[in-house]
This record gives sequence, structure tokens and C-alpha cells, in this order.
Amino acid sequence: AKGAAMVTAVAYRLADQSRQIAETLTEFRLTTEQLLEVKKRMRIEIENGLSKSTHDCATVKMLPTFVQSTPDGTEHGDFLALDLGGTNFRVLLVKIRSGKRRTVEMHNKIYAIPLEVMQGTGEELFDHIVQCISDFLDYMGMKNTRLPLGFTFSFPCQQTSLDAGILLTWTKGFKATDCEGEDVVGLLREAIKRREEFDLDVVAVVNDTVGTMMTCAYEEPTCEIGLIAGTGSNACYMEEMRNIEMIEGDDGRMCVNMEWGAFGDNGCLDDIRTEYDRAVDDLSLNPGKQRYEKMCSGMYLGEIVRNILIDMTRRGFLFRGQISETLKTRGIFETKFLSQIESDRLALLQVRAILQHLGLDSTCDDSIIVKEVCGAVSHRAAQICGAGMAAVADKIRENRGLDHLNITVGVDGTLYKLHPHFSGVMHQTVKELAPKCNVNFLLSEDGSGKGAALITAVGCRLRQERNN
Ligand code: BGC
Ligand code: MG
Repeated sequence: AKGAAMVTAVAYRLADQSRQIAETLTEFRLTTEQLLEVKKRMRIEIENGLSKSTHDCATVKMLPTFVQSTPDGTEHGDFLALDLGGTNFRVLLVKIRSGKRRTVEMHNKIYAIPLEVMQGTGEELFDHIVQCISDFLDYMGMKNTRLPLGFTFSFPCQQTSLDAGILLTWTKGFKATDCEGEDVVGLLREAIKRREEFDLDVVAVVNDTVGTMMTCAYEEPTCEIGLIAGTGSNACYMEEMRNIEMIEGDDGRMCVNMEWGAFGDNGCLDDIRTEYDRAVDDLSLNPGKQRYEKMCSGMYLGEIVRNILIDMTRRGFLFRGQISETLKTRGIFETKFLSQIESDRLALLQVRAILQHLGLDSTCDDSIIVKEVCGAVSHRAAQICGAGMAAVADKIRENRGLDHLNITVGVDGTLYKLHPHFSGVMHQTVKELAPKCNVNFLLSEDGSGKGAALITAVGCRLRQERNN
């Protein structure tokens, strides 16, 4: 009888635990009403960013990019491209051929940016970048050609032309000093000059979303939106010039870099943020900033998971109640691990192996809970990203006075590409929240490189036309 009582007590405790775990995770399950609310608020912030009277205090900045058309296939030439701000730093040579057989040939090399350089001085960062370019030009045997260069710089920049962009604020893992408030093209040109080894013609500074949109638009003319769901999160789209009050002119369209990662920085998402979101924000390099990005991009999803796991361990539901040093380590759950853990093809034993590899000793029950936590966090991420996209699609539809809009989104980013469920959930959410739009998603192959080259090609052509 005593044994039976004990079994009952254990059963009660376990049932209570799973109830508490489920309760913790329900906060991450957003209802359709909540998602519609996110969409509606995104729309409000879009208008605030576009209007002159509200722009200065707007959180979603809606930055003009000076890209006024998508490619038309006549672009050609050899270009150098830099890609800074994603998972890898890369230097690329892009050869675009126009005419009957359009081809794009690319060569690229990945370079590491050590943490000390990411978070050192601006001069060190740009010297390092130029050092990598130098290595690449040696490697390609092209030191003596003055190539036009497109600089994909995946941070918020206030542009005054195609080749000038003032860094408003660093995001993601970057924190180099003396760069905010400066024109990054100027910083790059100065670093090239300091080295006195080769010359380059910096033609364009390009946000990765814009490069992605342009790359897809090269193949698919209905592509007028770009989306990055990777280390960071952001979108751009072709907006009517008349709606972009921050720049002169009412004719035609211009691509606007939304910088939607900052959505929520005025508190408008506080009702759906959880204590774990707040913990991730507080511990980040930029507390209070990029709140939406911190709920839906690769750099932070693992951190949300880690904070939930710490809390659950503290409450005795996980890892025998022991918070290991590993669990206290920031950044352990990279996108690729989350993606593996959530893969449907993976047996629980393999989930345990991944946790083991990360230095977390788990039981079978632990691994089930960890997988559930990862699922809840990534599902919400995909849904709110979809809600943002639904707001953009409907905005474009209304701009054009259409009852129904067909549009393509060019997408890139590790989260979108590697995660087993993110893309599907995001697509589904857009469908539900923007029923009057038919939104197609096109994966961009190497958007940052190819797109920067295409924009540089257009920049070179426009400059020639001006000079003639
Ligand atoms: C940056 C954006 C960028 C996005 C995706 C964000 O942190 O602010 O400029 O497009 O990350 O890389
Ligand atoms: Mg990128």
C-alpha cells in the first residue's frame, strides 16, 4: 500500500510538472487575433516611418535605398562585392553577362571576423575588411584592375544616394566604435587609401534585403519584396515615391529598407513579449533595441530557448535541477542546432546526442521537453515574421488599388533555409493573415553577392548617363 501511495505521488508530481511546462509554453502560442494585431501594428509603424511628421520618432525607419527599379537584364560587367553582417563575411567577384544568354558567374571566399574585430575600433574593422579584399584580389590575380564595388552592409543606414550610407546603429553581434553616425562608404574608402595597395570604385552600399530582392527579380519580375530570416530579420519592398515623404519626387517607386527588426522598440509588442524575451533583450549588446528581431531571428531564438531551459531547470523540471556551466553560456544554441533538434527525422536519441555534444547531459524526458521548447519558440518566430510580411503585402496591394495582389518575395537567411518548419509556418501565416494576396516565396541563391553586383551595374550605368 505504501508503494502504491508513492507511485501515485510521483504520478501527481509529473502531471503537475507537465502542466506547468505546458503553461510556460502557452505564452508562445499566439492566437489568430493576436497575430492580426501584430499585423495591424506593423502597418501603423510602416506609416509612421514613411510620413515626414512622424519619421523622426518612428521605430520602423523605412529607409530610402535609391534603388528605383528592379533589373531589366541589360546589366553587365565584372564587379566586386562585399557581404558584411550575416553569418559569414565574404568577398566576391561577380561577372554578369547580358544579351541572349544571360549568365552570372561568381567566385567568393569566406573570411572570419574575430570577435575582437567586430567589437573593437571602426578603424580596425575596416582595415580588416580591406585586408580580406587584398587577399581575395591576390587569390583572383586582379590587384591591378580598378573594379566597381558593391558593399552589402546589413545594418540600418540612412542613405542620401546609392553610394552614401550613414550607419544609424549597429545590430546583431557588431559593436565597433566610431562607426555609428558615419558614412560607411567613406570609412571603406579611407581604409582602402590607408593601405596604399590597390584602388576600387565603391559604387553602391546595399542592404542584404535589397540585394536579395534584386537577385530574385533578375529571374522573376514579380519579385518586389525582399526578406531576410537569418542571423537578423528585415524586409524591403518597392514603395510608391509619393508615399516616401522623406525624399523629393512623386513619380515611380523606390525600394525601402524597412528595418523592421526595430518594430516594438516603442513598447507596442510588450503584451506578447514574455519574461524570456525580456531576459534575452536585457543580456544583449543592444538592450531595448531590435525587439521584434529578438523574437524572430536566428541570433536570438537559441537564447530564448536557453533562458526558458534555465528557468525550467531552476524549477526542477529539467536536467535533474542542475544548471550547468554550459547552460549558462550565451549563444550555445545556434540556428543549426535548433534546426537539427526540431528535425522530424531525428530520433530522440539523436536529440540527446546533440545536447550531449553541446555539453548538456540529458535524460530521455529532458530531450522531449527541450524539443518542445524549441518548437514553441521557433513557431512563434515564424508566425510573427509572417504577420509582418502580411502587413507589407497588404500595403502594396492597397498602394496599387487592387482587390487581389500577386507578388513574389525573394528570401534568404539561415533560419529560413536551415530550419525544418520555419518557412512552412511563415508561409501559412501570410496566407491566413493576407487572404487578398497571393504571396510566392522564392529562395535567393546568394542574394547579397549577386544583388549587390546588379545594383552596382545599374549605378555604373546611371553614372555614365549623367556624364554624357
Ligand atoms: C539589420 C538589417 C538587416 C537584417 C538582416 C538586421 O539586424 O538591422 O539591416 O537587413 O539584420 O541581416
Ligand atoms: Mg546575408
